[in-house]
This record gives sequence, C-alpha cells and structure tokens, in this order.
Amino acid sequence: MKFHTKNVHFQDKVDTKEVSKTKPIYQTSAFSFTDLEDMEDFFQGKKDFMYTRVGNPNTDDLGKGVADLEEAPAGAASASGISAILGGVLAVAKAGDHIIATEDLYGGTYQLFAGELPDFGIEVSFADFSDHGAIEEAIRDNTVLLYTESVTNPLLRVEDIKGIASLARKHGLKTMVDNTFPTPYLIRPYTDGADLVAHSATKYIGGHSDLSAGVICGDEALVKKARAKIVYLGANLGPFDGWLGCRGLKTLALRMERQSANARKLADHLTKRGVLGRVYYPNSVSERGHGAIVTIDLGEKYDVHAFFRNLDWVKVVPTLAGVETSVTYPVGTSHRPVPKETRDRLGVTEQMVRISVGIEDPEDIQAAFDRALEASRK
Ligand SMILES: *Cc1c(COP(=O)(O)O)cnc(C)c1O
Repeated sequence: MKFHTKNVHFQDKVDTKEVSKTKPIYQTSAFSFTDLEDMEDFFQGKKDFMYTRVGNPNTDDLGKGVADLEEAPAGAASASGISAILGGVLAVAKAGDHIIATEDLYGGTYQLFAGELPDFGIEVSFADFSDHGAIEEAIRDNTVLLYTESVTNPLLRVEDIKGIASLARKHGLKTMVDNTFPTPYLIRPYTDGADLVAHSATKYIGGHSDLSAGVICGDEALVKKARAKIVYLGANLGPFDGWLGCRGLKTLALRMERQSANARKLADHLTKRGVLGRVYYPNSVSERGHGAIVTIDLGEKYDVHAFFRNLDWVKVVPTLAGVETSVTYPVGTSHRPVPKETRDRLGVTEQMVRISVGIEDPEDIQAAFDRALEASRK
C-alpha cells in the first residue's frame, strides 16, 4: 500500500465478533477473566490485556499505528510527548550515564533534559548538531545516547539523521529523534538509522488540538523497555485519548499534504512582500513537501504586540499542528526555559512568530497575515 491508503486503513483489523465499523472505545480500567487459568494466560503472553495502565486496545492501536507509518517494528503510546521522550531516554540511559542533545531543542524537552534528568543521575550536555565535530568532542566514556529533532523548532533546521546515526554507531551510541514536526508523512527517521523515534501526538498525529499524547517507536526490544518505563512510572495514555489519537491519525496524510502546500504558499507570499526581517521555511524536507510550520522574524519595521493583536480569526495559542492556522510567540512560550544567551546564539529573537499553517483556503490565510502586517507596521 502507498502512504495515503496505508494511513487510512491502519486500524482495519477489527477484533470483536460484533463488527463495528470503527474500533470501540475500551473505556475500562481493567479486563475481566473467566477463571484463574484464563488470567494466567495473560501472564503467559497468550492474552493482550489485563489492566489499562499496563495495556489497552485503544492506546496500543495508537502506538502500533504510528510505528507502522514510521516503518518501525514497534511503538508504544503514552500520556504526552514528553513522557514518550522520557520513556525512550530511560530505555537507553540510567543513573551515571551521559546524553548529548542538540542545543536547538523544543523548550519542554530542554526543561526535561536540563532540569529533571540530572535529578535521576543522568548527565546531559548540549551541542551544535549541525557540527559533527562538536558532537564528537562532547562524547565521554559514559555517553550512551545522541538526541535530536528531525526538523527543529522554531528555526526549522533539517537534521542530517543518517549522518548523526552513523556517527552514533561508530561510537557505540544509540540515536533518538523527535519526529513531531515533519511526521512520518514527510520523514521516517527509523529508516534513516535512528534507534528510537518520539512523537508529541498532541500535535500532527492527533491533529485537532483536542488531546495530549505521545508515541515512542523503534525495534521490539527498545520499545519494550520504553513501554515498561511508561507503565511503571504511570505515564500511560487513557483509552479515550488513545481512541481520539487514532481517529486523528487516519487523516494525517491528507492534513499534512494540504497544510504543507498551504505553508509553502504562505512562505512564498511573505517572502515576496520583502519587508519582513526574515522568513524561515525549509526546502529540503521531503519529496512530499516541507512541513506546515513557517517562522517569521518581523525585523525592525513591525510592532510584535500590534501584530499579535491584529490576527483576526488566526488564534494565538502556545501549540501547533491543528487544522486551524494559529500562531505562537516562541520567546514567550516554547523557548521560555531556554537561556537568553542560547536563544541569541540560535537566532531565536523577540520579533519571532511561529505560524502553524492549517487547512483553510490559502488566499484567506495570506490575507489574514497581510492585514496583521499592515496593522502593525511602525
Ligand atoms: C509539543 C512538543 C513536545 C512535547 O509534547 P507534549 O505532548 O506537549 O508533551 C516535544 N517535542 C516537540 C517537537 C513538540 O512540539
């Protein structure tokens, strides 16, 4: 099957005798057994479900569905992107180990790595991942993992995943990639050599800004470990959110196709205006498109507060990836935990606006930004 067909039919195996067209929601905390032998079957691996924190059909579907599109053998869902990342990291690293992460990380991941992992005894250092020499210099005897993002936030740097994965293998390290921004529709890091692929399913996988979820994908052994961390740390996803995630996932290909095309048009339109500080939009993500995020730096000629006040129907929200176009202010939200000197070095400025392009008509999206720019011109 090609991507769009595979995407819509990911959940076709209906496992009940009553053939409901969609998967029922197993809104239950546990599964019942007929007798002790029946229950023993679970512990012998002959039955899949016992207690929802440990596993639930709706939650498992989301993990498997995303893994399938990533072309990875296994996947596990969790309560958030951050807990999927934590599960993946703890599958590889324990107290006394060291991780090297890219310095242009999503702010929440930066907070997890710089603020929380050290309390677990895991050391993290940050390096400029566009410079492989800098990564090699950061490697220590106790380094176990290289961590990066396939397309970074908000500057949209496209990672050389093959290069990073082969560098890691050369030094006996694992590679983990956050693939939230491009999704498997555009990039499949596992096929490029990454050991683990993480998603904030809160974003494009869900796609409708109505749930918080995460997925971690990779080979069976590593995902089994990551899943155990998610289960034993209590970071499991609830059945209804798993079901919502699956419903969203079915239209991933359609949404990404449309949103990427709209983003390309908006980036070209804003570039043509020629008055902005800068328009960031990558041109080498994939043959299917380059993603649905456009970041603009308003430069000196526009008032950033006036811009945000004049966006009409475009919502100001500290997230991305919904079907509606929205904007966020990275310095005030996702990059709040990132120290100013790091932000300055990366080029994340106070005049920067990150646009998450939706599925509306491209002309209406362009007109909304034209109006906001005109109203905020100094
Ligand atoms: C949102 C996001 C996360 C964190 O996901 P949550 O679902 O909010 O926990 C991680 N990485 C990236 C790139 C994100 O955009």
